[in-house]
Amino acid sequence: MGNAATLEIDAVLRQGGWVVTASDRAARALADDFHRARQAEGLRAWPAPTILDWKSFVRDAWEQRSADARLLLNPTQEQALWVGIAGADRSLATLLEGPRHRLAALAMEAHELLCWYAPRLLNNAARNAWQQDAAAFSRWLAAFDENCRAQSLLSSSRLPHELVPLLATETAARPPLLVAGFDRILPVQREVFDTWGAWDEAAPGEPASEVHFHAADDAQAELAACAIWCGRQLAAKPRARLLVVAQAASARRGEIERSFLAHTGPAQDFEFSLGVGLGQVTPARAAHLLLRWLDGSLQEQELDWLISTAWAAANPQESATLAAYMRALRQRGLERTHWTLEAFLGQRCAAEFLAANWMERLRAVQRRLSDLTRRPQSPPVWAELVPRLLDELHFADARPLTSAEFQALRSWQRAVESCGSLGFDGRRMSWRDFLSQLSRTLEETLFAPESQDAPIQIAGPAESAGLRADAVWFLGAEEDGWPAGGTTHPLLPVEIQRQAGMPHATPQLDWEMARRVTQRLLASAPAVHFSYAKQNKNAEARPSRLIAQLAGEAMDLTPELTAPTAQAPLTVPFEDRSRIPFPHGKVAGGASVLTAQSQCPFKAFATARLHAKSWQPAQAGLTASQRGSLLHEVLHAIWAGAPDGIRSSAELLNLNDRQAFVASHAGRVFQQQLPAHLRERMPRRYLELEELRLARLVTEWLDYEAARIEFTVADTEVERSAQIAGLSVDLRLDRVDRLNDGTLLVIDYKTGNILPSAWEPPRPDDVQLPLYAGFALDADDVLGGLVFAKMRPGEMKFAGRVGDATATLFSGLKGTNPLTKNPFTAEQLLDWQDCIEQLARDFLDGEASVNPRAYPQTCERCGLETLCRIQEGQAHLEDEDASEDAGSPDFAEARDA
Ligand code: SF4
Repeated sequence: MGNAATLEIDAVLRQGGWVVTASDRAARALADDFHRARQAEGLRAWPAPTILDWKSFVRDAWEQRSADARLLLNPTQEQALWVGIAGADRSLATLLEGPRHRLAALAMEAHELLCWYAPRLLNNAARNAWQQDAAAFSRWLAAFDENCRAQSLLSSSRLPHELVPLLATETAARPPLLVAGFDRILPVQREVFDTWGAWDEAAPGEPASEVHFHAADDAQAELAACAIWCGRQLAAKPRARLLVVAQAASARRGEIERSFLAHTGPAQDFEFSLGVGLGQVTPARAAHLLLRWLDGSLQEQELDWLISTAWAAANPQESATLAAYMRALRQRGLERTHWTLEAFLGQRCAAEFLAANWMERLRAVQRRLSDLTRRPQSPPVWAELVPRLLDELHFADARPLTSAEFQALRSWQRAVESCGSLGFDGRRMSWRDFLSQLSRTLEETLFAPESQDAPIQIAGPAESAGLRADAVWFLGAEEDGWPAGGTTHPLLPVEIQRQAGMPHATPQLDWEMARRVTQRLLASAPAVHFSYAKQNKNAEARPSRLIAQLAGEAMDLTPELTAPTAQAPLTVPFEDRSRIPFPHGKVAGGASVLTAQSQCPFKAFATARLHAKSWQPAQAGLTASQRGSLLHEVLHAIWAGAPDGIRSSAELLNLNDRQAFVASHAGRVFQQQLPAHLRERMPRRYLELEELRLARLVTEWLDYEAARIEFTVADTEVERSAQIAGLSVDLRLDRVDRLNDGTLLVIDYKTGNILPSAWEPPRPDDVQLPLYAGFALDADDVLGGLVFAKMRPGEMKFAGRVGDATATLFSGLKGTNPLTKNPFTAEQLLDWQDCIEQLARDFLDGEASVNPRAYPQTCERCGLETLCRIQEGQAHLEDEDASEDAGSPDFAEARDA
């Protein structure tokens, strides 16, 4: 609508007429216009206009005239009725809760479609010929009618049909109606308006004088063009009102926000007309999780999220202690995939971290709830309990609420009350069922904070009905996207949908509807822009024929609507060459510190000096590192010598039953070494299977070692200190063997697929064995080699460097075997020593550059990317690389150089 339409609406309202709009958003927009116009006239007070959206208009009119005692069902109540009916059908699809609720939602939708488009089919006899799914729905609809009759209930979809006879018998005069923003007036709406009395449709606005159709290279360029255009419009005319129409605006919300923030202006400049599910809004989600936790378990990531929001605490101090406690649980290996409140409070270290008040409060509320949860209660009882429980938990007390949080909590309370209204049929439900219902209601409720009257409104095509602006931009005008396709309703016969003209029943209907929406948009602003992306989801797209008919041929974007290829940097690069030397001579962490220094100096700095750690989600079973520890313990016990273990190849060969020997050690280790908290939380059968798997793996390894040339085990789990260029580190090595020539073989057990190439200078990926070989042996010891003992089922082998492998390790090795092909040499040892000393000097000097040895592989197994922000540096480097000549070294090499 343009100016003429505005003046017409204004005139009708000033003369006491009413305006009915297609949506509540349009009603609010018209009310804002009306008040602005009065203010502009210098008035200080004026009568409130009556502007109602269609649904409110019908409901108010019915409530004012109806004298019957029927209960008007709200959506939650109506859906519950459909769920009960679908469940009573006892078909396979309705036995499970999820499908039952989905089918009930579909049935409710089908009922609404019939009410709107084909009311004669509400009569049971008219549906006799329906078959299959439609016949099932017809049965449900008959049951729904019967339930409504028996319990005096009324569906809000039936209100227009109930209202018509009431209006027809009324003799009093009614104000004239002006109907605005409807893309299509349905027969039932027309009947209501006709019976009401005088009514008219608001004249469409004047057609836009300026219409453009843009073709962008891809969806990103299209969005950027729109955002740039909005920015320019606002710069030229700061009080301009702009409307951006985007299909699937909710699904593309993040993408749209990013583009507008990058090209348009601050977040206050734009707002979305459609909200998001209330269940995703922080205060509502936090409240729901907290209530669930009182009587059940939360997943680890849910609890992490809850604690990070601070909504679970009464003040910032409590919030900090909760975060510290979660960290401590992980540091102590006490993480769990799910946390009940009892388990969380029941850890031995809980009192050390958690505030006593917080613990007492949670326990008291939980006790109070458990008294009630013993038996089902009526929904209003649960609904009344919810705010009391949250009050007692001091929910929302930690800090003052923002306006959006306050509104979200109001919506939350309405959702709780709507679940409480399920008591309309006298049902009782368990607390958990009540929370499940609440969860569904939160997901189905859309929440958008009150409009801040931002100059740019972003809406979907349907939500834009009745909105006016100084200029409009319509995104996604490609052939497959506009007219928007859709499917017919699965519970209604297709021919009925076609006859009644229901949405998506035929392509012609979709075309017609899209044409009306497009024409309405063309009349809603003086300037209207359409755009489409030539390349969409890796496929070529064509412009919408409908838009081309109405707006002309699509033209390539002009340069001023094209985003610059390289964004102006938001940060100023600053080369920080300062170093903070390591103040101590000794570092905890052993060889892993120098391994990290080689992999990436920042990783060593962050882990050894800042004590940063990556976070691994808890697992239901044993983690790789827990399995590794158990393996080491079993091998340590086996090679520990008398009385229970063995110490040499001769003793290994003398074992009567190798399998039973290993099984007894594995059993003892599981018995004595497995932490109690793991034993409590993991099923006994699972642990038995893990023990069996471990015993098999070790037996297979001993079978492999039994073929070795004679050896003795000098030591296992050896602890030594090493001095490297002034840095002192404590080392622990898995095993050292004395070979038949008197030299030592240093062994590291591995279950992963690591190769000896990991030791190669100048930037080894692993320095543990070279470090031990080069710095921890006694002066009179001679090194014979260093090997990984690779223990993978079906692939047992030594991999490494050995002086003379055929003489000291396995006699039958071929010349092509890597152990013989790449023997260990004294020069190698010197190279390793030089490299490791340099790493130690770098660490001591404070060299902490973000410089992974092989990007992105090194980073993929690091876990510190949020701390070092490698992606930002990498993006910067990629920009630089792009401007350099072809053939420049890759990232890792460039940074290594
Ligand atoms: S993520 Fe990569 S760049 Fe960052 S600290 Fe780890 S290895 Fe270094």
